[in-house]
Amino acid sequence: MRSLVVVSNRLPELRSNRPQAGGLAIALSEALKEHTALWFGWSGRISKKTITRARLQHAQGIELASIPLNRADFDDYYLGYANEVLWPVFHFSLGAMDYRRSFVEAYYRVNRLFAAALQPLLTGHEFIWVHDYHLIPLGRELRARGVQQRVGFFLHTPFPSYGLVRAIPDHRQLLSDLCAYDLVGFQTVIDMHAFTESVIEAIGVQRVTDDQLRLGNHLLRTGVYPVGIDVDAVMATAHQALEIPRVKRLIAGLRKRHLIIGVDRLDYSKGLPQRFRAYEALLADYPSRRSETVFIQIASPSRTGIPEYDELRRNLEEMAGHINGEHAELDWVPIHYLNRTFDRSALAGLYRTARVGLVTPLRDGMNLVAKEFVAAQDPADPGVLVLSELAGAARELDDAVQVPPYDVDAIANGLDRALSMPLAERRQRHTRMLEIMRNNDLHTWQRRFLNDLSALKACSN
Ligand code: ADP
Repeated sequence: MRSLVVVSNRLPELRSNRPQAGGLAIALSEALKEHTALWFGWSGRISKKTITRARLQHAQGIELASIPLNRADFDDYYLGYANEVLWPVFHFSLGAMDYRRSFVEAYYRVNRLFAAALQPLLTGHEFIWVHDYHLIPLGRELRARGVQQRVGFFLHTPFPSYGLVRAIPDHRQLLSDLCAYDLVGFQTVIDMHAFTESVIEAIGVQRVTDDQLRLGNHLLRTGVYPVGIDVDAVMATAHQALEIPRVKRLIAGLRKRHLIIGVDRLDYSKGLPQRFRAYEALLADYPSRRSETVFIQIASPSRTGIPEYDELRRNLEEMAGHINGEHAELDWVPIHYLNRTFDRSALAGLYRTARVGLVTPLRDGMNLVAKEFVAAQDPADPGVLVLSELAGAARELDDAVQVPPYDVDAIANGLDRALSMPLAERRQRHTRMLEIMRNNDLHTWQRRFLNDLSALKACSN
Protein backbone atom coordinates (compact mmCIF):
# COMPACT_ATOMS: atom_id res chain seq x y z
CA MET A 1 0.00 0.00 0.00
CA ARG A 2 1.19 3.51 -0.74
CA SER A 3 2.72 5.10 2.36
CA LEU A 4 3.86 8.47 1.15
CA VAL A 5 2.83 11.32 -1.11
CA VAL A 6 5.51 13.80 -2.06
CA VAL A 7 4.58 17.11 -3.63
CA SER A 8 7.03 19.47 -5.29
CA ASN A 9 6.57 22.22 -7.82
CA ARG A 10 8.03 20.20 -10.62
CA LEU A 11 8.35 16.50 -11.27
CA PRO A 12 11.81 15.25 -12.17
CA GLU A 13 12.46 13.81 -15.60
CA LEU A 14 12.66 10.25 -14.30
CA ARG A 15 11.47 8.81 -17.59
CA SER A 16 14.15 10.40 -19.71
CA ASN A 17 17.91 10.13 -19.54
CA ARG A 18 18.31 13.86 -19.72
CA PRO A 19 20.57 15.16 -16.96
CA GLN A 20 18.97 17.54 -14.50
CA ALA A 21 20.36 20.20 -12.19
CA GLY A 22 18.83 21.27 -8.90
CA GLY A 23 19.24 20.00 -5.37
CA LEU A 24 15.60 19.21 -4.68
CA ALA A 25 14.99 16.99 -7.71
CA ILE A 26 18.19 15.07 -7.14
CA ALA A 27 17.67 14.57 -3.39
CA LEU A 28 14.07 13.45 -3.75
CA SER A 29 14.57 11.13 -6.73
CA GLU A 30 17.07 9.17 -4.66
CA ALA A 31 15.17 9.31 -1.38
CA LEU A 32 11.89 8.07 -2.83
CA LYS A 33 13.35 4.81 -4.04
CA GLU A 34 12.86 3.54 -0.44
CA HIS A 35 9.06 3.98 -0.44
CA THR A 36 5.85 3.04 -2.12
CA ALA A 37 5.22 6.59 -3.06
CA LEU A 38 3.27 8.94 -5.25
CA TRP A 39 5.07 12.07 -6.44
CA PHE A 40 2.80 14.90 -7.50
CA GLY A 41 3.79 18.11 -9.28
CA TRP A 42 3.85 20.22 -12.41
CA SER A 43 4.69 18.21 -15.52
CA GLY A 44 6.96 20.93 -16.92
CA ARG A 45 4.50 21.47 -19.79
CA ILE A 46 2.50 24.58 -20.66
CA SER A 47 -1.13 24.01 -21.64
CA LYS A 48 -3.63 26.26 -23.38
CA LYS A 49 -6.30 25.68 -20.70
CA THR A 50 -6.26 24.99 -16.98
CA ILE A 51 -6.28 21.24 -16.38
CA THR A 52 -7.25 19.87 -12.99
CA ARG A 53 -7.07 16.16 -13.70
CA ALA A 54 -3.65 14.70 -13.06
CA ARG A 55 -1.91 12.44 -15.55
CA LEU A 56 -0.59 9.24 -13.96
CA GLN A 57 2.61 7.46 -14.97
CA HIS A 58 5.14 5.10 -13.45
CA ALA A 59 8.91 5.47 -13.54
CA GLN A 60 11.68 3.80 -11.56
CA GLY A 61 9.20 2.29 -9.09
CA ILE A 62 7.55 5.64 -8.33
CA GLU A 63 4.00 6.62 -9.23
CA LEU A 64 4.03 10.05 -10.84
CA ALA A 65 1.01 12.34 -11.07
CA SER A 66 1.32 15.61 -12.90
CA ILE A 67 -0.63 18.54 -14.24
CA PRO A 68 0.48 21.15 -16.77
CA LEU A 69 0.30 24.89 -16.06
CA ASN A 70 -1.23 27.43 -18.37
CA ARG A 71 0.95 30.28 -19.61
CA ALA A 72 -0.37 32.92 -17.18
CA ASP A 73 0.14 30.60 -14.21
CA PHE A 74 3.64 29.69 -15.32
CA ASP A 75 4.56 33.36 -15.77
CA ASP A 76 2.95 34.73 -12.62
CA TYR A 77 3.14 31.83 -10.15
CA TYR A 78 6.43 30.18 -11.14
CA LEU A 79 8.55 32.91 -12.69
CA GLY A 80 6.68 35.65 -10.82
CA TYR A 81 5.82 34.99 -7.19
CA ALA A 82 8.03 31.94 -6.59
CA ASN A 83 11.13 33.16 -8.36
CA GLU A 84 10.89 36.96 -8.37
CA VAL A 85 9.48 37.40 -4.87
CA LEU A 86 10.09 34.40 -2.60
CA TRP A 87 13.41 33.17 -4.01
CA PRO A 88 15.23 36.54 -3.78
CA VAL A 89 13.86 37.39 -0.33
CA PHE A 90 14.58 33.91 1.01
CA HIS A 91 18.14 34.38 -0.26
CA PHE A 92 18.50 37.77 1.45
CA SER A 93 18.47 39.58 -1.89
CA LEU A 94 15.72 42.20 -1.48
CA GLY A 95 17.00 44.25 -4.40
CA ALA A 96 16.14 41.43 -6.81
CA MET A 97 12.50 41.25 -5.68
CA ASP A 98 9.90 42.29 -8.25
CA TYR A 99 6.51 42.27 -6.55
CA ARG A 100 3.18 42.43 -8.37
CA ARG A 101 -0.39 41.77 -7.23
CA SER A 102 -0.97 39.49 -10.19
CA PHE A 103 1.90 37.29 -8.96
CA VAL A 104 0.41 36.69 -5.54
CA GLU A 105 -3.02 35.96 -7.03
CA ALA A 106 -1.49 33.36 -9.33
CA TYR A 107 0.49 31.85 -6.45
CA TYR A 108 -2.64 31.15 -4.44
CA ARG A 109 -4.56 30.11 -7.57
CA VAL A 110 -1.96 27.47 -8.48
CA ASN A 111 -1.76 26.17 -4.92
CA ARG A 112 -5.55 25.73 -4.99
CA LEU A 113 -5.22 23.99 -8.34
CA PHE A 114 -2.59 21.60 -6.93
CA ALA A 115 -4.85 20.81 -3.97
CA ALA A 116 -7.84 20.20 -6.25
CA ALA A 117 -5.87 17.86 -8.52
CA LEU A 118 -4.13 15.99 -5.71
CA GLN A 119 -7.01 15.42 -3.33
CA PRO A 120 -8.87 12.82 -5.46
CA LEU A 121 -5.68 10.75 -5.66
CA LEU A 122 -5.28 10.38 -1.90
CA THR A 123 -6.25 7.17 -0.14
CA GLY A 124 -6.41 8.73 3.32
CA HIS A 125 -3.65 6.64 4.85
CA GLU A 126 -0.48 8.16 3.52
CA PHE A 127 1.74 10.90 4.90
CA ILE A 128 1.96 13.97 2.72
CA TRP A 129 5.32 15.67 2.37
CA VAL A 130 5.29 19.06 0.63
CA HIS A 131 8.54 20.58 -0.65
CA ASP A 132 9.77 24.10 -0.95
CA TYR A 133 8.74 27.70 -1.25
CA HIS A 134 6.50 27.29 -4.29
CA LEU A 135 3.93 25.42 -2.24
CA ILE A 136 3.71 27.15 1.13
CA PRO A 137 -0.14 27.45 1.02
CA LEU A 138 -0.74 23.86 -0.13
CA GLY A 139 -1.17 22.37 3.37
CA ARG A 140 -3.92 24.82 4.21
CA GLU A 141 -5.61 24.28 0.83
CA LEU A 142 -5.61 20.51 1.40
CA ARG A 143 -7.10 20.96 4.89
CA ALA A 144 -9.80 23.17 3.37
CA ARG A 145 -10.70 20.20 1.16
CA GLY A 146 -11.08 17.93 4.17
CA VAL A 147 -7.72 16.16 3.99
CA GLN A 148 -7.12 14.70 7.46
CA GLN A 149 -3.77 12.97 7.30
CA ARG A 150 -0.53 14.45 8.59
CA VAL A 151 1.05 16.98 6.27
CA GLY A 152 4.69 18.03 6.61
CA PHE A 153 6.62 20.74 4.80
CA PHE A 154 10.34 21.00 4.13
CA LEU A 155 12.01 24.23 3.06
CA HIS A 156 15.08 23.62 0.89
CA THR A 157 16.10 27.30 0.85
CA PRO A 158 17.23 29.44 3.77
CA PHE A 159 14.53 31.13 5.85
CA PRO A 160 15.30 34.87 6.05
CA SER A 161 15.35 36.88 9.25
CA TYR A 162 12.17 38.68 10.25
CA GLY A 163 13.44 42.07 9.05
CA LEU A 164 13.54 40.69 5.50
CA VAL A 165 10.38 38.59 5.69
CA ARG A 166 8.46 41.78 6.50
CA ALA A 167 9.34 43.17 3.09
CA ILE A 168 7.00 40.64 1.48
CA PRO A 169 3.62 42.36 1.53
CA ASP A 170 1.82 39.02 2.10
CA HIS A 171 4.18 37.78 4.81
CA ARG A 172 1.47 37.35 7.47
CA GLN A 173 -0.57 35.13 5.19
CA LEU A 174 2.51 33.10 4.21
CA LEU A 175 3.56 32.64 7.83
CA SER A 176 0.11 31.53 8.87
CA ASP A 177 0.03 29.14 5.87
CA LEU A 178 3.25 27.57 7.13
CA CYS A 179 1.68 27.17 10.55
CA ALA A 180 -1.12 25.08 9.04
CA TYR A 181 1.31 22.16 8.57
CA ASP A 182 1.93 19.56 11.27
CA LEU A 183 5.69 19.60 10.86
CA VAL A 184 7.89 22.22 9.20
CA GLY A 185 11.52 21.26 8.55
CA PHE A 186 14.52 23.49 7.85
CA GLN A 187 18.08 22.96 6.66
CA THR A 188 19.79 24.63 9.64
CA VAL A 189 19.00 25.78 13.14
CA ILE A 190 19.51 29.40 12.01
CA ASP A 191 16.62 29.02 9.56
CA MET A 192 14.41 27.42 12.18
CA HIS A 193 15.10 30.23 14.66
CA ALA A 194 14.40 32.88 12.02
CA PHE A 195 11.05 31.24 11.30
CA THR A 196 10.15 30.98 14.98
CA GLU A 197 11.00 34.62 15.56
CA SER A 198 8.95 35.67 12.52
CA VAL A 199 5.78 33.80 13.49
CA ILE A 200 5.98 35.01 17.08
CA GLU A 201 6.48 38.64 16.01
CA ALA A 202 4.12 38.76 13.05
CA ILE A 203 1.16 36.55 13.84
CA GLY A 204 1.20 36.01 17.59
CA VAL A 205 2.27 32.36 17.60
CA GLN A 206 3.18 31.04 21.06
CA ARG A 207 6.31 29.05 21.73
CA VAL A 208 5.43 25.86 23.66
CA THR A 209 8.93 24.35 23.57
CA ASP A 210 11.95 24.99 21.34
CA ASP A 211 10.43 22.87 18.59
CA GLN A 212 6.74 23.21 19.29
CA LEU A 213 4.60 26.22 18.47
CA ARG A 214 0.91 26.94 18.99
CA LEU A 215 -1.39 29.03 16.79
CA GLY A 216 -4.92 28.97 18.19
CA ASN A 217 -5.72 25.29 18.75
CA HIS A 218 -3.15 24.03 16.29
CA LEU A 219 0.17 22.59 17.44
CA LEU A 220 3.04 22.81 14.98
CA ARG A 221 6.36 20.95 15.25
CA THR A 222 9.50 22.42 13.77
CA GLY A 223 12.80 20.65 13.21
CA VAL A 224 16.21 20.78 11.56
CA TYR A 225 16.90 18.20 8.84
CA PRO A 226 20.01 19.07 6.80
CA VAL A 227 19.72 17.42 3.38
CA GLY A 228 22.44 14.86 2.74
CA ILE A 229 23.60 12.97 -0.34
CA ASP A 230 23.95 9.29 -1.18
CA VAL A 231 27.65 9.19 -0.25
CA ASP A 232 28.38 5.66 -1.45
CA ALA A 233 26.67 6.19 -4.79
CA VAL A 234 28.66 9.37 -5.49
CA MET A 235 31.91 7.67 -4.42
CA ALA A 236 31.31 4.72 -6.72
CA THR A 237 30.29 6.92 -9.66
CA ALA A 238 33.35 9.14 -9.20
CA HIS A 239 35.69 6.17 -9.09
CA GLN A 240 34.29 4.74 -12.32
CA ALA A 241 34.11 8.14 -13.99
CA LEU A 242 37.87 8.25 -14.45
CA GLU A 243 37.37 5.75 -17.28
CA ILE A 244 34.97 8.02 -19.21
CA PRO A 245 36.72 9.24 -22.40
CA ARG A 246 35.64 12.87 -21.82
CA VAL A 247 37.15 12.81 -18.34
CA LYS A 248 40.35 11.14 -19.58
CA ARG A 249 40.70 13.88 -22.20
CA LEU A 250 40.21 16.51 -19.52
CA ILE A 251 42.94 15.01 -17.34
CA ALA A 252 45.35 14.82 -20.29
CA GLY A 253 44.51 18.41 -21.26
CA LEU A 254 45.30 19.72 -17.78
CA ARG A 255 48.93 18.72 -18.25
CA LYS A 256 49.46 18.37 -14.50
CA ARG A 257 47.96 21.76 -13.72
CA HIS A 258 45.66 21.92 -10.70
CA LEU A 259 41.99 22.02 -11.57
CA ILE A 260 39.68 24.31 -9.61
CA ILE A 261 36.06 23.34 -10.25
CA GLY A 262 32.78 25.23 -9.77
CA VAL A 263 29.40 23.62 -10.57
CA ASP A 264 26.16 25.50 -10.12
CA ARG A 265 22.83 26.40 -11.54
CA LEU A 266 23.25 29.82 -13.10
CA ASP A 267 21.74 31.79 -10.22
CA TYR A 268 22.62 35.10 -8.59
CA SER A 269 22.56 33.45 -5.16
CA LYS A 270 25.60 31.37 -6.10
CA GLY A 271 28.09 34.26 -5.95
CA LEU A 272 29.55 33.64 -9.40
CA PRO A 273 30.77 37.18 -10.22
CA GLN A 274 32.57 37.34 -6.86
CA ARG A 275 34.04 33.90 -7.56
CA PHE A 276 35.36 34.99 -10.97
CA ARG A 277 36.88 38.11 -9.40
CA ALA A 278 38.44 35.98 -6.66
CA TYR A 279 40.11 33.76 -9.23
CA GLU A 280 41.40 36.84 -11.00
CA ALA A 281 42.75 38.10 -7.64
CA LEU A 282 44.51 34.77 -7.18
CA LEU A 283 46.24 35.18 -10.54
CA ALA A 284 47.19 38.78 -9.81
CA ASP A 285 48.22 38.50 -6.15
CA TYR A 286 49.75 35.02 -6.03
CA PRO A 287 51.88 34.98 -9.20
CA SER A 288 53.16 31.47 -8.53
CA ARG A 289 49.58 30.24 -9.16
CA ARG A 290 49.60 31.61 -12.71
CA SER A 291 49.94 28.89 -15.32
CA GLU A 292 49.70 26.32 -12.52
CA THR A 293 45.89 26.30 -12.21
CA VAL A 294 42.88 26.05 -14.48
CA PHE A 295 39.42 27.10 -13.32
CA ILE A 296 36.43 25.34 -14.90
CA GLN A 297 33.07 26.83 -14.03
CA ILE A 298 30.03 24.87 -15.14
CA ALA A 299 26.78 26.78 -14.86
CA SER A 300 23.58 25.24 -16.12
CA PRO A 301 21.10 27.82 -17.42
CA SER A 302 18.19 28.31 -15.05
CA ARG A 303 14.97 30.36 -14.99
CA THR A 304 15.72 31.95 -18.33
CA GLY A 305 13.32 34.80 -19.03
CA ILE A 306 13.77 36.42 -15.61
CA PRO A 307 15.82 39.59 -16.25
CA GLU A 308 18.30 39.04 -13.34
CA TYR A 309 19.18 35.59 -14.69
CA ASP A 310 19.64 36.71 -18.28
CA GLU A 311 21.78 39.62 -17.16
CA LEU A 312 23.92 37.40 -14.95
CA ARG A 313 24.59 35.12 -17.88
CA ARG A 314 25.76 38.03 -20.01
CA ASN A 315 27.92 39.44 -17.19
CA LEU A 316 29.67 36.15 -16.56
CA GLU A 317 30.41 35.64 -20.24
CA GLU A 318 31.94 39.10 -20.31
CA MET A 319 33.94 38.54 -17.14
CA ALA A 320 35.33 35.20 -18.32
CA GLY A 321 36.31 36.80 -21.65
CA HIS A 322 37.95 39.71 -19.88
CA ILE A 323 39.95 37.51 -17.49
CA ASN A 324 41.13 35.26 -20.28
CA GLY A 325 41.96 38.27 -22.47
CA GLU A 326 44.01 39.77 -19.67
CA HIS A 327 45.78 36.69 -18.33
CA ALA A 328 45.86 33.87 -20.91
CA GLU A 329 49.13 32.70 -22.46
CA LEU A 330 49.53 30.96 -25.80
CA ASP A 331 49.46 27.57 -24.06
CA TRP A 332 47.21 28.37 -21.08
CA VAL A 333 43.60 29.54 -20.76
CA PRO A 334 42.82 30.32 -17.12
CA ILE A 335 38.98 30.16 -17.10
CA HIS A 336 36.75 27.70 -18.93
CA TYR A 337 33.16 28.80 -18.54
CA LEU A 338 30.54 26.30 -19.73
CA ASN A 339 26.79 26.98 -19.80
CA ARG A 340 25.69 23.40 -19.74
CA THR A 341 24.06 20.66 -17.69
CA PHE A 342 26.29 17.60 -17.39
CA ASP A 343 25.26 14.04 -16.67
CA ARG A 344 26.04 12.87 -13.16
CA SER A 345 28.91 10.58 -14.01
CA ALA A 346 30.80 13.21 -16.02
CA LEU A 347 30.24 15.64 -13.16
CA ALA A 348 31.59 13.13 -10.64
CA GLY A 349 34.67 12.67 -12.85
CA LEU A 350 35.24 16.44 -12.88
CA TYR A 351 34.99 16.60 -9.09
CA ARG A 352 37.38 13.68 -8.72
CA THR A 353 39.94 15.26 -11.04
CA ALA A 354 39.85 18.64 -9.28
CA ARG A 355 42.31 19.72 -6.61
CA VAL A 356 39.88 22.38 -5.35
CA GLY A 357 36.07 22.52 -5.25
CA LEU A 358 35.06 26.19 -5.21
CA VAL A 359 31.58 26.63 -3.74
CA THR A 360 30.89 30.22 -2.75
CA PRO A 361 27.16 31.00 -2.67
CA LEU A 362 26.13 34.32 -1.13
CA ARG A 363 23.39 32.29 0.59
CA ASP A 364 22.30 28.72 0.14
CA GLY A 365 19.85 26.48 1.95
CA MET A 366 22.35 23.60 1.90
CA ASN A 367 24.42 23.28 -1.32
CA LEU A 368 24.67 19.71 -2.45
CA VAL A 369 27.56 20.39 -4.81
CA ALA A 370 29.78 20.92 -1.74
CA LYS A 371 28.86 17.49 -0.40
CA GLU A 372 29.13 15.79 -3.80
CA PHE A 373 32.61 17.22 -4.29
CA VAL A 374 33.82 15.81 -0.96
CA ALA A 375 32.28 12.38 -1.57
CA ALA A 376 33.83 12.19 -5.05
CA GLN A 377 37.42 12.62 -3.85
CA ASP A 378 40.05 9.90 -3.85
CA PRO A 379 40.55 9.26 -0.09
CA ALA A 380 44.25 8.62 -0.68
CA ASP A 381 44.80 12.00 -2.38
CA PRO A 382 41.75 14.17 -1.79
CA GLY A 383 41.12 17.67 -3.11
CA VAL A 384 40.11 20.55 -0.85
CA LEU A 385 36.69 22.17 -0.57
CA VAL A 386 36.66 25.98 -0.41
CA LEU A 387 33.22 26.74 0.95
CA SER A 388 31.17 29.86 1.63
CA GLU A 389 30.45 30.26 5.31
CA LEU A 390 26.92 31.35 4.29
CA ALA A 391 25.98 27.99 2.72
CA GLY A 392 23.89 25.68 4.90
CA ALA A 393 26.54 22.99 4.30
CA ALA A 394 29.08 25.09 6.24
CA ARG A 395 27.30 24.10 9.48
CA GLU A 396 28.32 20.48 8.95
CA LEU A 397 31.51 20.83 6.90
CA ASP A 398 33.77 22.50 9.45
CA ASP A 399 36.80 20.99 7.76
CA ALA A 400 36.31 22.84 4.51
CA VAL A 401 38.37 25.99 4.01
CA GLN A 402 35.55 28.37 4.86
CA VAL A 403 35.46 31.83 3.27
CA PRO A 404 33.17 34.89 3.44
CA PRO A 405 31.60 34.89 -0.06
CA TYR A 406 31.45 38.68 -0.54
CA ASP A 407 35.16 39.09 0.25
CA VAL A 408 37.00 38.48 -3.02
CA ASP A 409 40.46 38.71 -1.43
CA ALA A 410 39.52 36.25 1.31
CA ILE A 411 38.32 33.77 -1.34
CA ALA A 412 41.60 34.20 -3.25
CA ASN A 413 43.48 33.57 -0.02
CA GLY A 414 41.33 30.49 0.66
CA LEU A 415 42.19 29.20 -2.82
CA ASP A 416 45.88 29.70 -2.16
CA ARG A 417 45.62 27.86 1.17
CA ALA A 418 43.75 25.01 -0.47
CA LEU A 419 46.32 24.73 -3.26
CA SER A 420 49.22 24.58 -0.80
CA MET A 421 47.63 22.22 1.72
CA PRO A 422 49.87 19.23 2.51
CA LEU A 423 48.59 15.73 1.81
CA ALA A 424 48.32 14.72 5.49
CA GLU A 425 46.05 17.69 6.26
CA ARG A 426 43.96 17.12 3.15
CA ARG A 427 43.40 13.52 4.17
CA GLN A 428 42.53 14.40 7.73
CA ARG A 429 39.97 17.00 6.69
CA HIS A 430 38.49 14.73 4.05
CA THR A 431 38.09 11.80 6.47
CA ARG A 432 36.28 13.97 9.00
CA MET A 433 33.92 15.49 6.43
CA LEU A 434 33.16 12.11 4.92
CA GLU A 435 32.26 10.71 8.32
CA ILE A 436 29.87 13.59 9.03
CA MET A 437 28.25 13.14 5.62
CA ARG A 438 27.88 9.40 6.15
CA ASN A 439 26.20 9.95 9.50
CA ASN A 440 23.67 12.26 7.89
CA ASP A 441 23.22 11.00 4.37
CA LEU A 442 20.20 11.28 2.12
CA HIS A 443 18.52 8.23 3.61
CA THR A 444 18.93 9.52 7.16
CA TRP A 445 17.53 12.89 6.11
CA GLN A 446 14.27 11.50 4.75
CA ARG A 447 13.95 8.87 7.50
CA ARG A 448 14.33 11.46 10.23
CA PHE A 449 11.71 13.75 8.69
CA LEU A 450 9.22 10.96 8.07
CA ASN A 451 9.78 9.41 11.50
CA ASP A 452 9.03 12.75 13.12
CA LEU A 453 5.93 13.18 10.98
CA SER A 454 4.67 9.70 11.84
CA ALA A 455 5.42 10.21 15.54
CA LEU A 456 3.02 13.15 15.40
CA LYS A 457 0.39 10.88 13.97
CA ALA A 458 0.88 8.43 16.85
CA CYS A 459 0.51 11.29 19.36
CA SER A 460 -2.68 12.64 17.92
CA ASN A 461 -4.50 9.35 17.56
P1 ADP B 1 20.35 24.26 -6.07
O1 ADP B 1 19.35 23.32 -5.50
O2 ADP B 1 20.18 25.70 -5.66
O3 ADP B 1 20.50 24.17 -7.55
P2 ADP B 1 22.41 22.52 -4.89
O4 ADP B 1 23.91 22.68 -4.89
O5 ADP B 1 21.85 22.17 -3.57
O6 ADP B 1 21.81 23.86 -5.48
O7 ADP B 1 22.00 21.39 -5.91
C1 ADP B 1 22.40 21.40 -7.22
C2 ADP B 1 22.30 19.99 -7.78
O8 ADP B 1 22.24 20.07 -9.19
C3 ADP B 1 23.51 19.15 -7.42
O9 ADP B 1 23.12 17.81 -7.21
C4 ADP B 1 24.40 19.29 -8.66
O10 ADP B 1 25.18 18.15 -8.91
C5 ADP B 1 23.40 19.49 -9.76
N1 ADP B 1 23.93 20.42 -10.76
C6 ADP B 1 24.21 21.74 -10.61
N2 ADP B 1 24.71 22.25 -11.74
C7 ADP B 1 24.77 21.25 -12.63
C8 ADP B 1 25.23 21.15 -13.99
N3 ADP B 1 25.72 22.18 -14.67
N4 ADP B 1 25.14 19.94 -14.58
C9 ADP B 1 24.62 18.89 -13.90
N5 ADP B 1 24.19 18.92 -12.64
C10 ADP B 1 24.26 20.08 -12.00
